[in-house]
Amino acid sequence: MMTHRNFPIGSSERPLRVAIVGSGPSGFYTADTLFKQKDLHLNVDMFERMAMPYGLVRYGVAPDHQKTKKVIRTYEATARDPRFRFFGNVQVGRDLQVEELQEHYDQIVYAVGCGSDRRLDIPGEDLPGSHTATAFVAWYNGHPDHRYDRFDLSARRVAVVGVGNVAMDVTRILVRNAEDLASTDVAGHALQALRSSSVEEVLVLGRRGPVQAKFTPKEIREIGSLPNVDLAVSPQDLELDPSTRFQLEKDRFARRNFEYLNERAHQEARPGCRRVRLRFFSSPVEIVEKQGRVGSVRLERNRLVWDEQGHSRCLGTGEFESLEVGLVFRSVGYRGVPIAGIPFDERKGLIPNAAGRVLRSPGDETGAGEYVVGWIKRGPSGLIGANRPDSAETVRGMMEDLQGREARPFPEGNRQVLEGRLMERGIRPIRFRDWQLIDVEEQERGRKQGKVREKISDPAEVVSLLKKRQRAEGTQVLG
Ligand code: NAP
Repeated sequence: MMTHRNFPIGSSERPLRVAIVGSGPSGFYTADTLFKQKDLHLNVDMFERMAMPYGLVRYGVAPDHQKTKKVIRTYEATARDPRFRFFGNVQVGRDLQVEELQEHYDQIVYAVGCGSDRRLDIPGEDLPGSHTATAFVAWYNGHPDHRYDRFDLSARRVAVVGVGNVAMDVTRILVRNAEDLASTDVAGHALQALRSSSVEEVLVLGRRGPVQAKFTPKEIREIGSLPNVDLAVSPQDLELDPSTRFQLEKDRFARRNFEYLNERAHQEARPGCRRVRLRFFSSPVEIVEKQGRVGSVRLERNRLVWDEQGHSRCLGTGEFESLEVGLVFRSVGYRGVPIAGIPFDERKGLIPNAAGRVLRSPGDETGAGEYVVGWIKRGPSGLIGANRPDSAETVRGMMEDLQGREARPFPEGNRQVLEGRLMERGIRPIRFRDWQLIDVEEQERGRKQGKVREKISDPAEVVSLLKKRQRAEGTQVLG
């Protein structure tokens, strides 16, 4: 057995071995930042639960935001680095255990995002016709786990709960002309369903006021500028209390949102147009059943209360109202999912950490070689670019922790051992060159239909395509 005890970790004789779990933006920015460290010899292995890389950029960013998806080119450049290996179709905590990673890597970075949703905890939340926005987003983005989902778009009026950017994405996809999506990478099944949609009105529900809305000015303006779509907000909802007026003075984004909503408040509804109606100070208290599915939503009017730090929250006024809706999308934020063998903060829904170092027990900042980046580190907020400085902070901690650390021996044949174990367990990792083949195939299929890409969302089809190549090349890619 080779021990390398006499060489520092990160030297050419004993390169640093890093595992990154998750292949979304935060995972790729971490790899990129590591590769840019001066005089550091290292190898990075990235494990991904899905067969394909890029996480929310592939399965979350809306199909009509193709410019945003171009960030993938940066990740491709990182993946081309010879020190990088990709293992798709491998779920850590299920196919590989955390202890096995600990045995084979010096440092492990969890970049797993937030794979679940916050709940409203109101009666009727799980009725047929009440869905998470994230399921709808995954469906129209061709996510394999959601390819058989069904959304009843024969509903005339739909409620979207929450006023963040995910709510804006869902609303926009519901009201925009489906033909606008026809040349994008929207999933074929979604395009077909959206083409025959009967949705006329989307009711977007904010529990606090317009100034507290989380959507960004660009996103609300995008909806307001869609042809044949009316955006309406009640003037009553734009009346501000003194504390909100104070908040508005300090918050440039909120001011831009508010000014824009004021412009829209007095516009007449145009016949033949789809309508987006923003309702603020409104909390759903019940989703009410009609004939076995969503029939209406019962709302309570709220008012704002402020604490001494200047934070607002909403308080019910006891005034109720019911509105008929045929479909509800709950867009109230994401939540992390625990990984077996890694601590999890149930209250916050993320992995407890100090500036990216996983805390195995409260106050323990010993740098045990486990780290977090992205949403599972700081919570589910921030645009894609916010993950770059976030990853850089974690990498700084990783580099500090290497100082003076003694290299421990790895099992013999270390770099191949885990791959071998996966094969023994019947798990066939998808390597980056496999993904590149699928990438070309998806673009080719898209081109034939006048789309930028037609995603392959059936995992069995991915396997059969790769086997076909294996046969053609006479190589052993998949078993
Ligand atoms: P978000 O920005 O945190 O918005 C969540 C919304 O849900 C807020 O309006 C929140 O209201 C509301 N909410 C939470 N609990 C609720 C409850 N019990 N009842 C009613 N409403 C409730 O989260 P997100 O929309 O999921 O977005 C996540 C991140 O991804 C954000 O940083 C977002 O900007 C980003 N993103 C960006 C884009 C884009 O750039 N186009 C697209 C998608 C996502 P309160 O404020 O009152 O809590």
